Amino acid sequence: MEKQEGFMRALKCRECGREYPLTATHVCEFDFGPLEVVYDYDRIRKAMTRSTIERRPESMWRYRELLPVASEPTVGLQVGFTPLIRADRLAKRLGIRELWIKNDTVNYPSLSFKDRVVSVALSRARELGFNTVACASTGNLANSVAANAASAGLKAYVFIPHDLEQGKILNSLIYGANVIGIKGHYDEVNRLCAEIAGKFGWAFVNVNMRPYYAEGSKSMAYEIVEQLGWQIPPHTVVPMASGSLLTKIHKGYQELVKLGLASNGECHVHGAQATGCAPIAHAQKAGLDFFKPVKPNTIAKSLAIGTPADGFYALKVMKETSAAADDVTDDEIREAMRLLAETEGIFTETAGGVTVGVAKKLIASGKIPADSSAVLCITGNGLKTLDAVDGHVGAPREIKPSLREFESLVANEVKTVSA
Ligand SMILES: *Cc1c(COP(=O)(O)O)cnc(C)c1O
Ligand SMILES: [Zn+2]
Repeated sequence: MEKQEGFMRALKCRECGREYPLTATHVCEFDFGPLEVVYDYDRIRKAMTRSTIERRPESMWRYRELLPVASEPTVGLQVGFTPLIRADRLAKRLGIRELWIKNDTVNYPSLSFKDRVVSVALSRARELGFNTVACASTGNLANSVAANAASAGLKAYVFIPHDLEQGKILNSLIYGANVIGIKGHYDEVNRLCAEIAGKFGWAFVNVNMRPYYAEGSKSMAYEIVEQLGWQIPPHTVVPMASGSLLTKIHKGYQELVKLGLASNGECHVHGAQATGCAPIAHAQKAGLDFFKPVKPNTIAKSLAIGTPADGFYALKVMKETSAAADDVTDDEIREAMRLLAETEGIFTETAGGVTVGVAKKLIASGKIPADSSAVLCITGNGLKTLDAVDGHVGAPREIKPSLREFESLVANEVKTVSA
């Protein structure tokens, strides 16, 4: 009865388990539960071994059997396989034995982890015959949809809160996308987009295409495991907006175990939010299974979702993996951005500051033990949120083009240092 496409079997309701055909749809008709892609793991197990994967080009598509496209992907073929950096200097500052940075600040082409989800969503949208794509975004998704749609010759509409960082706005406009600024916060943008998606026959990557789109996040987990020599890290710290990335990193780890590509072991997937928008972290800390929606107020605008679509499932994953969540203030976010830059030479956007700041807290409190090893997911590039650090990192000292002036500047510096 179901038509198998590639290695996908069907869409399936996460609540009641009812199955649906693999079309552009995202909620169950019976209970409004979210739909998720299910795969034929027996066939995948035969098609995918460590060595077949390792022989493929270094992009997220080396795990293509586990990504929801029916045939070869057509959009974002170079996305992913970002560096996993051993961060000894930061480890020392945070007080942990071993630390790794999964560096999606340099993801191709739009410098955030969103290229992973968009590459999948647009490849699938094309398979389903769409030529206009759209999204509701906190910034990075808009950048990625605009960039990837341009390279694929698709028409794009991106909807954003009107008061986003200038860097994020320009980074959508430059690609020629239709950029619509909504006078409201993300949750209002999202609600409007749900209405628009119902009326216009477009592929909304995070509305009607969400089951496919969200699966792209799993590639971050596969890469981490392969880059660690096919080991699942005992601790992973993940920033949360809707909570989707956290749930999909966990799903990615589990799939590799199921396929025999990695062995089962200690695996805690911790969540990070900004204090100014921490519905999931607050619920986790209070031991609740449900979050209470909030009105966001934080410099971490890419994470500013007050009613997180996958918050419930993110809480479930943290509970199941005995993980923790925490949140950090705007000042702590800036401090953590600076710490990462000064110790490892990586300039992250505010979301990365949230991850590093929360990791620091979790290590200090022993929730991530000092003698253990952790991976921090750094998901976006600092050049897009310059406003957040402007005025907080000092300024160049200016002199005339004269050697004498420079010598006296250095002399003064030596005096201050030795004083
Ligand atoms: C979108 C985003 C996230 C997290 O997104 P989820 O909605 O939780 O999957 C994390 N970091 C950055 C930089 C983002 O843009
Ligand atoms: Zn259902």
